[in-house]
Amino acid sequence: MKAELEAIQAAALEALKDVETADALESLRIEYFGRRGKLTDVMKGMGQLSKEERPVIGKLANEVRASLTDAFEATKNALESEHQEQKLKAEAIDITLPGRKPAYGKAHPVMQTLERIEAIFTQMGFQVVTGPEVETEHYNFDALNTPPDHPARDLHDTFYLTDGHLLRTHNSPVQIRVMESQKPPVRIIVPGKAYRVDYDVSHTPMFHQVEGLLVDRHVTFSELKGVLVSFARQLFGDQTQMRFRPHFFPFTEPSAEMDITCTVCRGEGCRSCGHTGWIEILGAGAVDPEVFRAGNYDPEEVTGFAFGMGVERIANLQFRIPDIRTFYENDLRFLKQF
Ligand SMILES: [Zn+2]
Repeated sequence: MKAELEAIQAAALEALKDVETADALESLRIEYFGRRGKLTDVMKGMGQLSKEERPVIGKLANEVRASLTDAFEATKNALESEHQEQKLKAEAIDITLPGRKPAYGKAHPVMQTLERIEAIFTQMGFQVVTGPEVETEHYNFDALNTPPDHPARDLHDTFYLTDGHLLRTHNSPVQIRVMESQKPPVRIIVPGKAYRVDYDVSHTPMFHQVEGLLVDRHVTFSELKGVLVSFARQLFGDQTQMRFRPHFFPFTEPSAEMDITCTVCRGEGCRSCGHTGWIEILGAGAVDPEVFRAGNYDPEEVTGFAFGMGVERIANLQFRIPDIRTFYENDLRFLKQF
């Protein structure tokens, strides 16, 4: 029986060496330790031994049992750690691989220009205010000294809605709204959308404007020029030349348009500037006393100036796009260039 136990032990240890999976280990365990297992069988036969033999064989049997249990446990642990290692290997991340770049969106070129314009004026102390895009004839025209027979009120220019409402044709109505709600001094810019019935290479029915208004005591036209020259230099560069031409607007008197040297030919003359070397970028003027009265300001007390510019036009001067309508065709191949 002693030999039998030793043989079982040797066979079991040998078999353990070939075990590669948890399932195989379990079958082997049953083969030796199960109810009808080889070791179990031997233990069952102990009853037939003599009194002298029983303690000796019993002790040996327990030793064999203990050593095999240990060996099975060790194999089980080895299999588990191997499994764990393989799993980690399979899930390993190669941190030396280059990462995938997320696709970033960015601001539309017109918005980029609008933000630059806003940044320049806010840095000069102007406050950004907004107003409604659906306006009344009163705010869009009457209060801005634009009588009903003025060409700007022509049906062809304005999108009329019902009940005397319309889509504002400029951001100037906000001047009146601000004057009605706040006492002078005023120093504001009004960025936002305006609408006109117009569609060609340099016009879209919806466009962006930045309107400006400064009101205080003793404001002069030369201060208007100073603000606009500083603005244009910051936006277009120190080399840029400027000139003011007399013009007419119903809501300012005197009025002017401001030109800068052509950004394409730098003043030499080319097709973009109609061979003049100059490009108009904005309209401006001293606030008309009638407009002050409409806003409940006393023109004897205060003076001021206003200006307005088209953002698409300025974006176009910076980015040189032959057709302004391409800004709104939403072709990503076009928009990604800016
Ligand atoms: Zn030119």
